[in-house]
Amino acid sequence: MKLTVLMDNNTIIDKYFLGEPAVSYFIEDEGTKILFDVGYSDAYIQNALMMNIDVHSSNAIVISHGHDDHTRGLKYFFQSGGRESTKMIAHPGAFHKKTIGDLEIGSPLSSEELGRLCDLHLSREPVKISENIWFLGEILRTNSFEAKHPIGIVQTADFQIPDELIDDTALVYKSKDGIFVITGCSHSGICNIIEQAKFVSGETKVLGVIGGFHLFELNEQTLQTIEYLKENDIRFLYPCHCTSFKVRAEMSKQMNLIEVGVGMILELE
Ligand SMILES: [Zn+2]
Ligand SMILES: [Zn+2]
Repeated sequence: MKLTVLMDNNTIIDKYFLGEPAVSYFIEDEGTKILFDVGYSDAYIQNALMMNIDVHSSNAIVISHGHDDHTRGLKYFFQSGGRESTKMIAHPGAFHKKTIGDLEIGSPLSSEELGRLCDLHLSREPVKISENIWFLGEILRTNSFEAKHPIGIVQTADFQIPDELIDDTALVYKSKDGIFVITGCSHSGICNIIEQAKFVSGETKVLGVIGGFHLFELNEQTLQTIEYLKENDIRFLYPCHCTSFKVRAEMSKQMNLIEVGVGMILELE
């Protein structure tokens, strides 16, 4: 499996790619190409071009959740050559309208619009995407310390409720040395996500995790998360995007953290 960071808040020095507070990864596994999240603007497409990656060659687009720092790039994907045959996988709630006050923070395209533009698969259940990669589906929230705070409002024709981000999900890759979790913002809780990845893959050894952990302060959730990650003896941790410097600094005292930036390539067997 090869993962290339097309978009992140951080950029790697001496590589002149664009950064923005958003996520997009290009993942290749045994001939299957997956575009995981699409950033906020068209910058991920520009970065991909500079890396000789054609995002439109993806066999599947996977959306981690509906927030616009993970979905707003969709409009540029379809403006620049998206195909009706492109498969897109997301939770059924990912493209609902999401707001904070007057601000719209959800996908620029609804599921009806996306259904016309591509081959849209909305699933609460896990979906096998390639030889070794699964979409995790709706994350079970089993522990007491994560996913406690709604963000804004989610609305459809039928309801308008505080947004618990039930659409938040992730990918798992099964390597020969354990599972590797690829997450967007982890609103459902990084520990809940890892537990679901173990269940879906049938493998309990966790080799690594990359993505946003949605941790900002050294509070109870962060401290319990650090304990969980240590208990799982995870060799490669790549917390980025929505993981604050303060939290990463604390984690790095206790575990092996690796810095993420646009242009970073991660290869696993
Ligand atoms: Zn988010
Ligand atoms: Zn985010």
